[in-house]
Amino acid sequence: MSTHFVYECHSPQVTQEALKSSIIYKLKFVIGKEPYIATQREWLEAILLAIRDRVVNRWMTTNRATYSQQVKQVYYLSMEFLLGRSLSNALISMNMYDDLTQVVTELGFDFEQLLEQETDPGLGNGGLGRLAACFLDSLATLNLPGGGYGIRYEYGMFKQTIRNGQQIECPDDWLAHGNPWEFPRTESRYQIQFEGHVVEEEGRYQWVKTNDIIAIAYDQIIPGYNTEATNTLRLWSAKASDEFDLQIFNDGEYYSAVKKKNDSENVSRVLYPNDSTYSGKELRLKQEFFLVSASVQDILYRHWLVYKRWDNLADKVAIHLNDTHPVLAIPELIRLLVDKHQVSWQEAMTLAKRVFSYTNHTLMSEALETWPVEMIRKILPRHLQIIYQINDEFLQHVSQEFPHDYELPRRVSIINEEHGQLVRMAWLAAIVSHKVNGVSKLHSQLMTDSLFADFAKIFPNKFCNITNGITPRRWLAIANPELTSMIESYIGQQWLVDLPQLCELKHWIDYPQFLDKLSQVKKSNKMKLAHFIAQTQQIVINPEALFDVQIKRIHEYKRQLLNLLHVITRYNRILANPEKNWVPRVVIFSGKAASSYSAAKKIIHLINDVATVINNDQRIDSRLKVVFIPDYSVSLAQKIIPATDLSEQISLAGTEASGTGNMKFALNGALTIGTLDGANVEIREHVGPDNIFIFGNTIDKVKQIKQNYYYPRWYYENDTELKQVIDQIANGYFKPDSPNFYQDLTHSLLDGGDQYLLFADYRSYINTQEQVDHLYQDPLAWQAKVAQNICNMGFFSSDRTIKDYASQIWQINPIIL
Ligand SMILES: *Cc1c(COP(=O)(O)O)cnc(C)c1O
Repeated sequence: MSTHFVYECHSPQVTQEALKSSIIYKLKFVIGKEPYIATQREWLEAILLAIRDRVVNRWMTTNRATYSQQVKQVYYLSMEFLLGRSLSNALISMNMYDDLTQVVTELGFDFEQLLEQETDPGLGNGGLGRLAACFLDSLATLNLPGGGYGIRYEYGMFKQTIRNGQQIECPDDWLAHGNPWEFPRTESRYQIQFEGHVVEEEGRYQWVKTNDIIAIAYDQIIPGYNTEATNTLRLWSAKASDEFDLQIFNDGEYYSAVKKKNDSENVSRVLYPNDSTYSGKELRLKQEFFLVSASVQDILYRHWLVYKRWDNLADKVAIHLNDTHPVLAIPELIRLLVDKHQVSWQEAMTLAKRVFSYTNHTLMSEALETWPVEMIRKILPRHLQIIYQINDEFLQHVSQEFPHDYELPRRVSIINEEHGQLVRMAWLAAIVSHKVNGVSKLHSQLMTDSLFADFAKIFPNKFCNITNGITPRRWLAIANPELTSMIESYIGQQWLVDLPQLCELKHWIDYPQFLDKLSQVKKSNKMKLAHFIAQTQQIVINPEALFDVQIKRIHEYKRQLLNLLHVITRYNRILANPEKNWVPRVVIFSGKAASSYSAAKKIIHLINDVATVINNDQRIDSRLKVVFIPDYSVSLAQKIIPATDLSEQISLAGTEASGTGNMKFALNGALTIGTLDGANVEIREHVGPDNIFIFGNTIDKVKQIKQNYYYPRWYYENDTELKQVIDQIANGYFKPDSPNFYQDLTHSLLDGGDQYLLFADYRSYINTQEQVDHLYQDPLAWQAKVAQNICNMGFFSSDRTIKDYASQIWQINPIIL
């Protein structure tokens, strides 16, 4: 295409001139403003649009190549995509970052400041949504054909502020200024049916008298790094169905018609703010079906357009289910094939079993989705029939194959009859998918030992592990430009698409000069973060102090409280021994609690109360500071992680499926203090046991402790430091105006079973924190371990993860560009 010259020209002057004139063109003719009166936001929008044009060229090339080559594609279905800001990512993908910096500076702006003005779309809760975003980045970078499907929530993850120590939630009106990255596709619209009932005629089923909503597509381009390849993230937005509106309007019920229209559009209104918990709300079920019905209809529409046959569907289409949230795609595909496209039940089942694959993200019972049969019957009556039929055939097969295990059918039935009638979504996914994967070695092992033990026996080849990864583009090149250019000065640039090349840095590990540069980079990042914290939180921190960071969703299993027990212990020790040469520490927390999760909200409250007391205690003299940074997001993570010395990954062994935060930190030169949980286990294998601080009970020990009647009071009564800390919390030391406020919290630890074994891991954690201090006092020894971490993180690139999915699960190959 002739327009390629726009970004392929080799002269920076020409590139920059072209860029500048297209920005000014956009400002005038798309935004409608003259340069001298445009606001900073309008300039930013003009820049986004000018950059977007350059990505569009690549998008069209890729789409043409994908369709002409008729290759198999993967569709990644996810209720969440936590993309982060797009501009800097587009710029590094096209190698235009320096050119644009130059242009923007000439136009008189501070580029860094301008980048901060871009909206960060929060269409996800945490790790699961961020994983989906890393996967899209790697798919495109590897030229793999496919894309994502999700929901264009009008309100994303709530904005968090802290008032009097408490979390306050505000709606995230992220579309208020429009979204320059999206292309509305008003022609790509599908009817989504709900409710109604099923009629049978000569063995064919029809779902009739339904209430319908229209799904409208909005496309966002996902550029690959240093390749022409791009992919598409298609997000669905709900619109009231025209037909049904008209009828009520005709009845003269104008206001109730408008209200009904408004109500039906609620389906894509807001993201449910629950992370790792199941909500059971009818609207959530509707959201899940809305996503899958629109996506599956779209996939089938395009397949038919190209091939005009269904028998090759599984040769051309792979559909991946990110957790059980999109599992209704299974009965929806079968319904569309059988009821709409006249495919036989047997063939539809065979196709579905070859098309679908599923990732399990958690084993915790509170997170496993089960929907009441009656709710599904009401909202999706035809799908309930299909689920029953899948179940009947499966149970018949099971009884034939395992005739002596009388209990097996009850255990593996999709319908759980024990607690009312519930549809177990994980069972449906495991039965119909051809592959089920866990997200770390440990998690995958536990998955087939516990949750899916019966299914692993029935389907011995179905289960596998693919350890999570992160994209080094966002989490190193964009988040940490100083470390990136330092690495480039030693080993060039290829490692950004081949992360294991970081091990080439090993040659320099013994050189103090190399370690010194590493610590200068860290220092510079810490100064930037200190500046940010001073500006936003009015807390002054010492950049020489050890930055100890735990940023992630606030959840009891992640044990922010254990971290806090250490903070208070350290506080008491400093007060008891003020003359000692304490290693100064800044302990940083950030994370949101689900709005209905009161225990997690109380933990946030306690963190803030502890911070207030410690930060204002003159006797501590800044040797300990506690900072809670509000409104955790991808953008905030990008600021905090490069400045971290110590990464807190302290979940109870057996509860965190993988974690990906742990990988971002280690890649950015933080040392990990963690339990043998999730991917921490593999991080230890890769960086070496001497370069990570591991503490706490292992899974086997946890099992043992729980079997032998765990008695938290024993720890409390036999550990004077622990007792002191718990008593302080219980007696209102950190909340003098309401001294009983935290008694429910201490009570649940002491007498409520301490479900996540904080007390059992406390002493080991405190002792390991002492080792951390000790090492930090020897900067060269510390930096040597930091270097070992960076060198050995190659395995944790999401490029490796996606190559594994492509070859082991999806059977897809790169397109030729
Ligand atoms: C990486 C990331 C997470 C996941 O962090 P974990 O420590 O693995 O729970 C959550 N939220 C955001 C914004 C992230 O970038």
